[in-house]
Amino acid sequence: MCPGGIIAPASTSPGELVVNGWSPSKRNNPFANSGMVVQVDIADAAKYLGTENVKDPLLMMHFQQAIEQQAYAAGGGKFVAPAQRMVDFSTKKLSTTLPKNSYLPGLKSAALETVLPAFIHDALAGGFKVFGKRMKGYFTNEANVVATESRTSSPVRIPRHADTLAHPQVNNLFPCAEGAGYAGGIVSAAMDGEAVSHAICLKF
Ligand SMILES: Cc1cc2nc3c(=O)[nH]c(=O)nc-3n(C[C@H](O)[C@H](O)[C@H](O)COP(=O)(O)OP(=O)(O)OC[C@H]3O[C@@H](n4cnc5c(N)ncnc54)[C@H](O)[C@@H]3O)c2cc1C
Repeated sequence: MCPGGIIAPASTSPGELVVNGWSPSKRNNPFANSGMVVQVDIADAAKYLGTENVKDPLLMMHFQQAIEQQAYAAGGGKFVAPAQRMVDFSTKKLSTTLPKNSYLPGLKSAALETVLPAFIHDALAGGFKVFGKRMKGYFTNEANVVATESRTSSPVRIPRHADTLAHPQVNNLFPCAEGAGYAGGIVSAAMDGEAVSHAICLKF
């Protein structure tokens, strides 16, 4: 959750749309944002991609890429992000207008149930309703659902030995933190960095 925050473009390739949220230290932006995470199993991703090759080490990366490409296309290009009002999202109704927002490339109204896989859409829609029951005012059409924050954790994990934290085949390589698949977010990445630096000290 980023109070007084901004949703920013975070894509790494042309034709793929990724967003991420952050707040300046003064938290003085009129908007707030939060990333909503849905668990994705290998079986879900394989089914969505229409493959039976669940052993493909890059399967989850292909899944991530497919969603990012669909989000880019639904926004119509130039990193405009597809979005829907929250209640409309949960009831699969196209929003005729969108509330003001902090995302500078702009938002375009879209039927996000056609952008996201059904199991992700349904999990989010159900979650929003439950949050709304527990927190007054949460489930509101004054909020935008923006697609998509698809980089909460790495889709690939580089192997490493559980005790030495070294790669099993590449000598003196210590896969570490988020990109290597051992963290998701600032604190877990920092903690893994600390563990790996200890492991390096022990070795040398
Ligand atoms: C906009 C935004 C908002 C975020 N908000 C939050 C938040 O609120 N809370 C939270 O927990 N997480 C947040 N995150 C995620 C968080 O930033 C990451 O989880 C964390 O930074 C991962 O740390 P890391 O050390 O694994 O990787 P990084 O911080 O990405 O560090 C990797 C480093 O490797 C360097 N590098 C890459 N390639 C090479 C190379 N070939 N040679 C040498 N150096 C190289 C890079 O320049 C970089 O400095 C946010 C991310 C973004 C983009």
